[in-house]
Amino acid sequence: MDLIGSELAILWNDGTEQFIPLKLLRKECPCAWCAKNAGTQSSGPAYTEDSFQVRSMVPVGGYAFQIIWCDGHAGGIYGYDYMRKLPNR
Ligand SMILES: [Zn+2]
Repeated sequence: MDLIGSELAILWNDGTEQFIPLKLLRKECPCAWCAKNAGTQSSGPAYTEDSFQVRSMVPVGGYAFQIIWCDGHAGGIYGYDYMRKLPNR
């Protein structure tokens, strides 16, 4: 798993490579707050440039990653299964 430019590159155990744009990753943030606010025009999350920059990624129990974004948002735990279902570039 590697950050390349504005994308997250993942090499899965079966050899599949996946490239997920960070913008998409942030918009698909699985935390309760984002899930609740996604798609609602009036109260949707207000993104800034920092919202799409990753500050750090912390492994969670061998099945997921917590992504901490540069705007301070850190609620999203991205399970491997969840990431695999995201569209590949
Ligand atoms: Zn979130």
